[in-house]
Amino acid sequence: MITRSSTLLHCSAPDEPGLPAPGGWQRQLAGAIRDPRELCRRLGLDASLIPGAEAGHSLFEVRVPEAFAARMRHADPDDPLLRQVLPLDAEQTSPEGYVTDPLQEAQHTARRGLIHKYAGRVLLITSPACAINCRYCFRRHFPYQENAPSRSQWDDTLDYLREDATLREAILSGGDPLAASDRQLAWLVERLDAIPHLKRLRLHTRLPVVIPDRVDGPLLEWLTGTRLQKVMVLHINHANEIDEAVAGACARLKQAGVTLLNQSVILKGVNDSVDALEALSERLFEAGVLPYYLHAFDPVSGAAHFDVADARANALVDELRTRLPGFLMPTLVREVPGEASKTPL
Ligand SMILES: *Cc1c(COP(=O)(O)O)cnc(C)c1O
Ligand code: SF4
Repeated sequence: MITRSSTLLHCSAPDEPGLPAPGGWQRQLAGAIRDPRELCRRLGLDASLIPGAEAGHSLFEVRVPEAFAARMRHADPDDPLLRQVLPLDAEQTSPEGYVTDPLQEAQHTARRGLIHKYAGRVLLITSPACAINCRYCFRRHFPYQENAPSRSQWDDTLDYLREDATLREAILSGGDPLAASDRQLAWLVERLDAIPHLKRLRLHTRLPVVIPDRVDGPLLEWLTGTRLQKVMVLHINHANEIDEAVAGACARLKQAGVTLLNQSVILKGVNDSVDALEALSERLFEAGVLPYYLHAFDPVSGAAHFDVADARANALVDELRTRLPGFLMPTLVREVPGEASKTPL
């Protein structure tokens, strides 16, 4: 069989071999599944799941691009990818201690769209939107509308970075920063590039995982055009999320000089077993990505059904350490409000 990439190598197409068509990701994003009924139908799920899915959808809307849905098993409500995106009846219940802003980020927004909690690095809310809506998300209640800066407000936010010479790193976050257009991102990165004390540009994104075609020519152009060292922290929770297309996107990023890391959240019914965590680390490394953080679950309201107790998370990681080389071990951490760094459990 002739593969697509080998075909391209032998023709004289103007684009680089294997690069997705520019802008194709935007069509995929616009066409994402946004209706809980459609999600259930697409995956051949039992109709009894629909009322819970619709109720959850009214709290935090369903959003699943087809490229991600295509990696799920058909007619299996326990599929680890489906569980991350399908609203359940359980979202209606919010036990005591589950809150809307578990990280108390509202207290650290120094400027519109800017969170400065840790020494040397600031987090910029670059896009309020995500390509996928994860049910366990600790930002599911984040007031993005209040925090998404307009272009003129960006000047004020960028002044904060210009004036603080202790800053070494700008972290583009969200939502998902890669949900912004390449034009906007190129504009922003050009300004960050011009701040002499900044050394690194970091992106926290799930888009290359959810829609691998996001890593196209226009993205690689601004990414390779900056003098800043580039780090991308992907967000992958299960080995099944990494198919050939995702591995291809990772290869393009690596070729562009990006250091690739991954953060996961430990989630009941998704990856709360040593086998699942081991397979995830192995598959990540095959794709050229190193495990970085494994986040303990944050008690965000509506997501209590994903909770894994700290003692259990610690036990899983202790056993994982007996199976993997040290460089494939993520660090199990929690974000504790008021602490100067993420806190190892
Ligand atoms: C997690 C986080 C960072 C990055 O922390 P690292 O330990 O460097 O990965 C930076 N700023 C904020 C507000 C964060 O929540
Ligand atoms: S992609 Fe990240 S920020 Fe967006 S919903 Fe999922 S976990 Fe939350």
